Amino acid sequence: MINASKQPNTNPPGLQQVQNQKSDLSIPPTTEHYKYSLGGTPKETIQQYLELNTNLKKINTSELSKLVGVTRQRVSQILDEIGEIRHKRTGHVVKSCPICEVEITKNASACRKHSHKKDNRVEGYKYRCKTCNKFKNLSEFTRSKRSPSGYEHRCLICRSDWQRDYNKTRHGREKHKKIVKALINKHPERRRAYYKVFKAIKDGVLIRQPCEVCATPKTQAIHTDYTQPLNIRWLCRLCASRDGTNTVVYVPDQLEDQYRKYINSNQNSSNISGKWIAAIQKYYGKNTLSKKILTNSLQQVENIPGLGAQYSTLTTQFLNQNTQKTG
Ligand SMILES: [Zn+2]
Ligand SMILES: [Zn+2]
Ligand SMILES: [Zn+2]
Repeated sequence: MINASKQPNTNPPGLQQVQNQKSDLSIPPTTEHYKYSLGGTPKETIQQYLELNTNLKKINTSELSKLVGVTRQRVSQILDEIGEIRHKRTGHVVKSCPICEVEITKNASACRKHSHKKDNRVEGYKYRCKTCNKFKNLSEFTRSKRSPSGYEHRCLICRSDWQRDYNKTRHGREKHKKIVKALINKHPERRRAYYKVFKAIKDGVLIRQPCEVCATPKTQAIHTDYTQPLNIRWLCRLCASRDGTNTVVYVPDQLEDQYRKYINSNQNSSNISGKWIAAIQKYYGKNTLSKKILTNSLQQVENIPGLGAQYSTLTTQFLNQNTQKTG
């Protein structure tokens, strides 16, 4: 019978026994109940109960409230007054990270920062791709800050497959467009440089070369300085992503930026300012734009190919506005 009380998952016939047993242990039988109730005030009743049950490990306020006939809250209050602590809940244990001592949850072994060993992957060993289940070199995994190992769990091929499929979905297409647009707005000099490369390849000035590093025929033109659009290296995508050469930080020419903005806002064509600037720069043999060049170009409009009456009027307007602002 005592064993049955310790096994709550017994079959239905035994269940009633367990319930009876439980009530035997926690609530005294009805005769005793009556005996307790004779005590008078709830406080006296509780005190009497505690005297009779000296070796309780915990006091069940719910049972006591039924026994005494007051709410659990009142029972707790009375027990507090008596100076009892056995009815109180044990508060949650505050655990902390063994390394940095930041407070953590009860099931955690360390904080977010220290619960994983970072960068435990070693070059020269093979690791399993969790998507295709093949063992591959570490160089065939892309780095990831989110992953505890410091690398993504899928290999580059599986990653590109996923990306290709994702970009075909409606959501993927929209997101891709958005990212491209945001990048163009953030780095207009890059698009200009790419366009010049594209134009040069089309005109036959530039010929696509195989990858400098691994000789893969499919390559990209990699810039180190966007102000020199045709000074490029040919690298495949993989080698380009691994290439450690830093690009020269592009400092936008203020005058050029203002000029572009002014012309493009006055003209619906987004590329007309670019064409004009290219024509001027080609004529003067310079990479930059200055007020001097702009004013000089107004007298040379007929000699510079690609410029016309529209150029003269808009540029004069721009220069007038610009001198007004600065002066
Ligand atoms: Zn920590
Ligand atoms: Zn894979
Ligand atoms: Zn390569």
